[in-house]
Amino acid sequence: MSLELVKCGMCGKAAVVESGGRHVCPVCLEEEHRLYADVRTLLRDYEGSGLTIKDVAEMLGIDERKITHLVESGYFKLALRGGLRSND
Ligand SMILES: [Zn+2]
Repeated sequence: MSLELVKCGMCGKAAVVESGGRHVCPVCLEEEHRLYADVRTLLRDYEGSGLTIKDVAEMLGIDERKITHLVESGYFKLALRGGLRSND
């Protein structure tokens, strides 16, 4: 197993993670999971309305960067026109 130094996608601080792993520091792990659940619920509630990263960030009152992080980590997909989609 090798490690790499990355920037945490949630808080922006430097973090050491497993190579190929998600870019999130230990402090933010829990928040990341909670955020994932929140976004998933939101997308389910607003299914078909094509919420973008910006829409979701505004609705949850959080930084767009965190939603972008979830997409980059493979939790969500971006559909046509930039709408977010759940993976399942
Ligand atoms: Zn962090």
